[in-house]
Amino acid sequence: MAVPKRKTSPARKGKRRSHHNPLGVNSIECPNCGEFKLAHHICSACGYYNKKEIVDMTESEEDQSDLPPPN
Ligand SMILES: [Zn+2]
Repeated sequence: MAVPKRKTSPARKGKRRSHHNPLGVNSIECPNCGEFKLAHHICSACGYYNKKEIVDMTESEEDQSDLPPPN
């Protein structure tokens, strides 16, 4: 079995993982609420895109009262 010859240093590990989080690359400020969101995506905070409300975030709260109780 092939085994690494040297221990991976913390600096090398950090350099490798610097590409692991793609968020923040395309993030812009939402013109509606000011939260950071991905460009060309619906804002996850207010549900707006292109100055129009696409997803009503006020109704997206989990409403468990309508569900029948489990056995
Ligand atoms: Zn927003």
